Parts: sequence; C-alpha cells; structure tokens
Amino acid sequence: MAEKHRCCAEVWPKGGYHPGRCERMASVERDGRHYCKQHDPVAVKARDDERNAKWEAKWCLARAKTTYANAAVALAEADIVTPCVTWPAYCVLLDDFRSSKAALDAAKKGGA
Ligand SMILES: [Zn+2]
Repeated sequence: MAEKHRCCAEVWPKGGYHPGRCERMASVERDGRHYCKQHDPVAVKARDDERNAKWEAKWCLARAKTTYANAAVALAEADIVTPCVTWPAYCVLLDDFRSSKAALDAAKKGGA
C-alpha cells in the first residue's frame, strides 16, 4: 500500500485573498512532489499544449482567411483594370489567390 499524500499544489479559493493547499489526495508523484490528477504538472502541460495548439490552429485559419480575402480583392481589382489573363502580374495574383485558397482549405482541415 502506497503512502498517502495530499496534493501539494497551491490553489486560490474563489474570492479568496490567500492561496491554500489543494484538498485532494495526490495520485501522482513528480520529482518527489505529490499532485492530484488535476494539478499533475504533466497533465497541466498537456492541457496547455492542447489549448495552444487549438489557438494556433485558430490563428492560422484567421490569417489564411485574411490572405485569401486580400488575394481575392487584388485579383478582382486586377480583373477590372486588366481583364487580360496573359498579363504577367495578373498571373501572379491568380497564383496568390489559388495558393491562399489552398492554404485556407488546409488550415480549415487542420483546425478541426
Ligand atoms: Zn491538486
């Protein structure tokens, strides 16, 4: 039977002014310190990483949307000024538009 330890994490009670000790029994030991499941540094880091990855994906999607919208506007403007598809600059804009569309689709898939 393993020795019982309380979680060593400091917790701030709601509306409190002093941190207290976590009330739960520890379920893991990390470097000689004991933590409950919620305060296990490995689990906390995993949760943070997951949150960061989600945020990153969201940010990537937002950026891809902006790039795509800008490329679409640039293409539409070029279309009005020069409706000739052989104009080199138009081809560049068209390429930008297509690659930004592909990037947006990829970001949408990755952010799911
Ligand atoms: Zn705890």
